[in-house]
Amino acid sequence: MTSTVPIPADGHAPLAPGTPGVFTRLESFGVRGLDGGSLSLMYHKLGPRPRGVRLKGLYVPARLFRQQLRDLQRAGYRSVSMHGLASDGEARRVALTFDDGFVNVLTHGLEPLRESGFHAIQFLVSDLLGKTNLWEQQQGEASEPLMDASQIRDWMAAGHGIGAHTRTHPWLTRIPLAEAREEILGSKARLEDLFGVPILHFCYPYGDWNPAVRDLVEEAGFVTACTTEPGLNRPGGDPFRLRRLTARYASRNWANFGRLLRRWLG
Ligand SMILES: [Zn+2]
Repeated sequence: MTSTVPIPADGHAPLAPGTPGVFTRLESFGVRGLDGGSLSLMYHKLGPRPRGVRLKGLYVPARLFRQQLRDLQRAGYRSVSMHGLASDGEARRVALTFDDGFVNVLTHGLEPLRESGFHAIQFLVSDLLGKTNLWEQQQGEASEPLMDASQIRDWMAAGHGIGAHTRTHPWLTRIPLAEAREEILGSKARLEDLFGVPILHFCYPYGDWNPAVRDLVEEAGFVTACTTEPGLNRPGGDPFRLRRLTARYASRNWANFGRLLRRWLG
């Protein structure tokens, strides 16, 4: 099948025109809407939202999460490793990624993951294990606990992976390069010390990267890095620039409300 969608310079696959840039339900993409490459979904938080949350859509209710996994399973999707995302090239492959290491992912995610047989990875902020999302609270977001070392061991014991997301969650292109190197290298070393496994996958906080930061990640010994750029991944793409779709709860705006009404009435 030939595609009319141009391939960008980094070799990754953009989404077909008209497909949603975020992921709520698989059905929104049509039968073959995601067949142009391997899919990676970016999650943050699962379960009920505490009072006062600003970015409400980033809390995916456990029921919706379970439904998303069931949809993927029924459509024939199988888990792919982070490395496989960049090199595999087979259709219907998905990597489930969780940024930041929130406890609510352990609480609400383990069971649906076990039921569906999908594998997931959590990107951890190594100086903040067992603490809270300080970088978000500085911008007025509600406090949310992060997994401590023993909870991370529970996550790993269930068969899931971990990766690094820096030491303190800075904007890596806005700090001196030496500091960025320390954030990247330091998080890798700390997680390897604590958990005794090689940490090979990195995720740029806020999706903030540039070529110098990208090279620091490669020099540190990582083999992949995730951005927040939407799109699909295929062989030949830069493994330090993996694309993901944000998995989120659909906000109840008027367009959605109209669609619901039409469904109920029609
Ligand atoms: Zn993050």
